[in-house]
Amino acid sequence: MNKPVSLYIHIPWCLRKCPYCDFNSYGTAADRIPKEKYFETLMANFNAMADLYNPAELKTIFIGGGTPSLLDPEFFINLFNGIEQRVHINSDAEITMEINPKTADRKKLESLSRIINRISFGVQSLSDRFLKSIRRIHNAEEAESIVRNARSLKFDNINLDIMYGLPNQTLSDCLKDLEKAISLNPDHISWYELTVEDDTEFGRNPPENLPDSDLLADMSEAGIELLKKEGYERYEISNYCRDGKKCRHNLTYWNFEDYMGIGAGAHGKFSDQKEKQIYRIAQPDNPATFMKIQNFLENRIPVQKDSIPFQYFLNRARLMNDRFSLNTITETTFLTREDLTETLKPLEKKLYIEKISDDEYRITKKGYTFNNEMLVELLPD
Ligand code: SF4
Repeated sequence: MNKPVSLYIHIPWCLRKCPYCDFNSYGTAADRIPKEKYFETLMANFNAMADLYNPAELKTIFIGGGTPSLLDPEFFINLFNGIEQRVHINSDAEITMEINPKTADRKKLESLSRIINRISFGVQSLSDRFLKSIRRIHNAEEAESIVRNARSLKFDNINLDIMYGLPNQTLSDCLKDLEKAISLNPDHISWYELTVEDDTEFGRNPPENLPDSDLLADMSEAGIELLKKEGYERYEISNYCRDGKKCRHNLTYWNFEDYMGIGAGAHGKFSDQKEKQIYRIAQPDNPATFMKIQNFLENRIPVQKDSIPFQYFLNRARLMNDRFSLNTITETTFLTREDLTETLKPLEKKLYIEKISDDEYRITKKGYTFNNEMLVELLPD
């Protein structure tokens, strides 16, 4: 039996596709989702992963999408029953669901509280004007009301996703939005810039009056300051928490630990302790193709040894004020201490990292500022 692992469950449908979204999600009416078939396939996918990982237990679960809250709580209660028959879920496991404010009410949250203990609300803005500009399906009042309901139902680990850099947004608009989010007293805030990705509606037809890079830099600086003043610790580039309530599930990715991924387009990472080899496992993006799949390990790709330092730091360098230990990295990467010390030498020489003990390094201010340049040093020849 191997170590405890994390589990990601992907639900690939949304009521409507947002114009900036490049996630694996498809706009559809809730009653057109093939729930039974998807349920069966998720269970089969989970069992195949449990055969491979043979984990001691599940330590975190994250149900993301898409819009998982489009489905009834019973879907997930049954799914968790099936999962528990096969793998124990730790009683202290962090279990998160992403919820779109338009698709949940108090009753739904109450039922979900039987299985989840953390909610990540896709709020994005608390101003109707800006919500319209990015064509979200909910309004500010709906978002505020569902967050308050969650709090009164005693959810004590709530995240709000908030964006900045929206069309026509000024510095003062952006700060007002963030202040309003903070006034709802969330435990965690993911605060990030709207990016226009190529393969999206905004990519094909960019909105007018997006803030320029100077304004974006001002927004970022002022927002980070405001969050700090309000007691939120910036522990990852875009993630802030109070009272140490970091997202334990996402820390699994940033610390390069193993996780299972089930559902259309879900990814997993598996370290084979016997072979000393890391694999990435992906499921097909398209839900119809996923629901026909016979072999969930079809797309299992070994990670080349020379690309591991880059992949490791691509994740790890997102964590702020972080110190990393050679011993831990050798355990999670199968690289030898000698290999690692050799790989890190150029980074140390260029002052992107500094040694703080025999076993530990930390990323310097220069390393955070010139993150891309630092990562380029780690690319395989
Ligand atoms: S609700 Fe979220 S996942 Fe769905 S389309 Fe919008 S941004 Fe993408």
